[in-house]
Amino acid sequence: MNEPEDFRDHISTVNEAGKRVWIYPKQQKGKFYTARTIVSWFLLLFLFGTPFIKISGHPLLMLNVIERRFIIFGLAFGPQDFYLFVLATITIVIFVVLFTAIYGRIFCGWICPQTVFLEMVYRKIEYWIEGDSANQRALDKAPMDSKKFFKKTSKHLIFYGIAFLIGNTLIAYIVGIDKLFDIVSHSPSQNLSGFISVIVFSILFYIIFAKFREQACIIVCPYGRLQGVLLDPNSVVVAYDYVRGEPRGKFVKEEKREIGDCINCSLCVAVCPTGIDIRNGTQLECVNCTSCIDACDSIMEKVSLPKGLIRYASMKGIKDKIKFKITPRIIAYSSILLILLSVLITMLFIRSDLDVNILRAPGKVYQEQPENKISNLYNIQVVNNTFENMPLNIKVNNSDAEIKIIGKDIVIPLQSVGDTEFLIILPKDKIKTALIPLDIQVFAGEKLIKEIKTSFLAPNK
Ligand code: SF4
Ligand code: SF4
Repeated sequence: MNEPEDFRDHISTVNEAGKRVWIYPKQQKGKFYTARTIVSWFLLLFLFGTPFIKISGHPLLMLNVIERRFIIFGLAFGPQDFYLFVLATITIVIFVVLFTAIYGRIFCGWICPQTVFLEMVYRKIEYWIEGDSANQRALDKAPMDSKKFFKKTSKHLIFYGIAFLIGNTLIAYIVGIDKLFDIVSHSPSQNLSGFISVIVFSILFYIIFAKFREQACIIVCPYGRLQGVLLDPNSVVVAYDYVRGEPRGKFVKEEKREIGDCINCSLCVAVCPTGIDIRNGTQLECVNCTSCIDACDSIMEKVSLPKGLIRYASMKGIKDKIKFKITPRIIAYSSILLILLSVLITMLFIRSDLDVNILRAPGKVYQEQPENKISNLYNIQVVNNTFENMPLNIKVNNSDAEIKIIGKDIVIPLQSVGDTEFLIILPKDKIKTALIPLDIQVFAGEKLIKEIKTSFLAPNK
């Protein structure tokens, strides 16, 4: 490529004086933009609608990180499920690494909430109020008058209104929609922490989408920073076909083109929301938003050259002039991703609501009791993954045995782990051997939840 290499020295949104360069991406049209718009409607519907969906009176999704209580598709998870959290984290990390190695930053361009909100909500409102990039530039340079004041004020009020909505939605995911209604319908003094959280999140989202924008992807997002190690020449990314495009040069009507197909119109740069030139190759700033694909395709159509000068492709595919095809590597990686996801989902759904363990207490094997009786001490531990406090009842299959709970009755609070101790007591004259097999039954209310085989130790006869 013939371009100067100065793009390597600084990021596109910072000038040589170290000042932020504000990006005014040109408004975009095209098949990818339309498809991304449709995908964004579904994602936004899911995001804003999910807190209202309940299963048996409980949220479909709740991520209460403060109290470490989570509800995922109606199933409750808590600190007792730490092993699942570790497994899910490992799965997600492997998933992200493999997924990115094959499909590049497809997530950033199509699904990431930052891109969806910035490009599909905030930017559209900006175009609607201030016009396309040239009008926005002109408006920013113009002195303040009533027209500019009205446009800027209305834009920022709408921006804040949406940020407020996002902030409330986030709180709804953390504490549930009922608690959110409680926060917004009472005086702030009655729910001070909830009220402050809503305001803080709203301001934060407003700053991110109105001011910080692409800097979140370039500077803050760890996924973006990791692209250098996650991508390889076989990864599918939004790429410029330099083999076909170079040497670039002006388009001259009705002249036989003897140079590359890039007509150097710079439209791909003008539409880029991170301000880069994709013709310089894969860059950290590229969020794979596909705007440059649509832009270049529209130009190729106008000059009657084949579309796809910028397209989804691997760098190796471009270099070797190979069209994208499903390779054994893609099949292998995708299969591993599928297996990992299936294992995780299966683990989540096969987990029982109540998990009971009974062990004989360590220490003395049996205890002498008054009235010529012998007892054994047992520990019972119960993991209650349900939404109810669970009163437990213990029975044993020996009509001579008596059960004595140490302390008060066992009630395991919802979504927590509880344990207690109990004694099984047998009259000495009913003991015939030193090892008596027992079946202990644990009931939640009237429902038998676990039957455990154990033994009762007695002195040798
Ligand atoms: S280079 Fe293209 S795909 Fe990457 S961010 Fe810019 S417009 Fe989007
Ligand atoms: S839009 Fe296409 S033709 Fe125009 S400069 Fe970019 S790559 Fe070249």
